[in-house]
Amino acid sequence: MSGELDGRVIAITGATGGIGRALSFAVAAQGAQLILLARNERKLRALHAELEQQAPGAALMAPLDLEKALASDYDRIADAVQQRYGKLDGLVHCAGLLGALTPIEQYDVPMWCRVVHVNLTAAFALTQVLLPLLRSAPDGSILFTTSSVGRKGRAYWGAYAVAKFGVEGLMQVLADELSGTSKVRVNAINPGRARTAMRRQAYPSENVETLPLPETLLEPYLKLLGPRGAGITGQSLDSQP
Ligand code: NDP
Repeated sequence: MSGELDGRVIAITGATGGIGRALSFAVAAQGAQLILLARNERKLRALHAELEQQAPGAALMAPLDLEKALASDYDRIADAVQQRYGKLDGLVHCAGLLGALTPIEQYDVPMWCRVVHVNLTAAFALTQVLLPLLRSAPDGSILFTTSSVGRKGRAYWGAYAVAKFGVEGLMQVLADELSGTSKVRVNAINPGRARTAMRRQAYPSENVETLPLPETLLEPYLKLLGPRGAGITGQSLDSQP
């Protein structure tokens, strides 16, 4: 495969999910090498096998459960990327955990910790361990996946919304830190309403078949991962108007 991401190495979390999976195929189609990060090894192997049909040899499987991962698990990923590629051009955080839709007054504390950990703390830890490799790339790009509930508080969205506010903050702080000291760009994208498992879980009575497919929401991801993203950092963008 060949395209605007030729020669780039891009890691994607939640690669087996709705948006992560669609992005994995799109990024491979644009010529990138991929590191597929996912917790479910069966789904990961199936995704890898499908990608092999489209782009033989382009993807590396990296099992990682963001809820349970230890420092040694993060180090293992960084070591594998270092050994195989020696750099990382893109890191896209697509993994996400919805948790409970419940008033703050009743929100279960252990659930809160899990949701904040998967959506925010694990994204921070993975970014931190991969930063030296991103700095080694000529045009590194970090993309967080945010949500409208991470920009304006909405009742009952609890830890998910608060974690997404944290993701927006992490993106801004890191973008500011890196703008003076490296070429690494840091941005967030809100895909908006998408036809995925998470949306079904959040809105069980909605007909998700009417919502956009993840494949149609990838333009800002592809732009920011490649040369068209030059000079853009510290921004929180939308896939949909
Ligand atoms: P999906 O539920 O389809 O995908 C979520 C992904 O996160 C899955 O691959 C899932 O893994 C992975 N994941 C969950 N928990 C863990 C964990 N502990 N360790 C590793 N991976 C984990 O949802 P979407 O594709 O819709 O979501 C992608 C991103 O988009 C999320 O950050 C979400 O918050 C955001 N978003 C989605 C919107 C929508 O309408 N769908 C709207 C706004 C934002 P597994 O395959 O094993 O379940």
